[in-house]
Amino acid sequence: MKKINKILIGTNNPGKFDEISKLLPKNVEKYSPIDFKILSPKETGKTYEDNSRIKALYYSKKTNLICLSDDSGLEIDLLNGEPGIYSSRWGGPNNNFNVAIEKVFKIIKKKKKNNKIIKAKFICNLTLCWPNKKKIISVEGIIPGRIIDQKKGIKGFGYDPIFVPRGFNYTFGEMSPKLKMSIDHRYKAYNKLKKYFF
Ligand code: IMP
Repeated sequence: MKKINKILIGTNNPGKFDEISKLLPKNVEKYSPIDFKILSPKETGKTYEDNSRIKALYYSKKTNLICLSDDSGLEIDLLNGEPGIYSSRWGGPNNNFNVAIEKVFKIIKKKKKNNKIIKAKFICNLTLCWPNKKKIISVEGIIPGRIIDQKKGIKGFGYDPIFVPRGFNYTFGEMSPKLKMSIDHRYKAYNKLKKYFF
């Protein structure tokens, strides 16, 4: 099998772009949609896999490069799995994570009846797509944890400051990026695609 040495990371989200580039081997040439001045496609799917495939197909068609794209989200048990595939949209038109986190706090406050732990999980679907639809592979990674009722830490992005992964007592926002990247949902999904790069 020929190893991939050049790839388009199909995301316009700087936090994700950074994490995915760091997961990939150093010698792989990495491109972003910004290098090609391509906007993001509409995420019209009903699942992470749908949306991740929409992005991978779209970007590989536009650039003729092998594309790795991600669709991910936070699922909170008390909110019946919300925000889920709408995790980024909860931040409003400007993708403001503070807005999204305030929305989570507001709903949790309304719904919470006791001091029970608020279970949650991050899910990530990664799709690797070769140009001309020659081959397309989707894989998933999950990290379980809980949501806390105040923001802690300024590292990471998105919902990181309110998510405590299982087995830890501090948030992704407080965790070193290196450690986060070695345990999170994106890492777990990437592990299933590693063989195409190494
Ligand atoms: P999308 O996959 O571009 O639709 O966006 C996924 C959204 O889920 C992000 O914008 C974040 O709000 C959230 N998300 C996904 N992965 C993470 C993570 O590792 N940390 C924090 N938030 C995340």
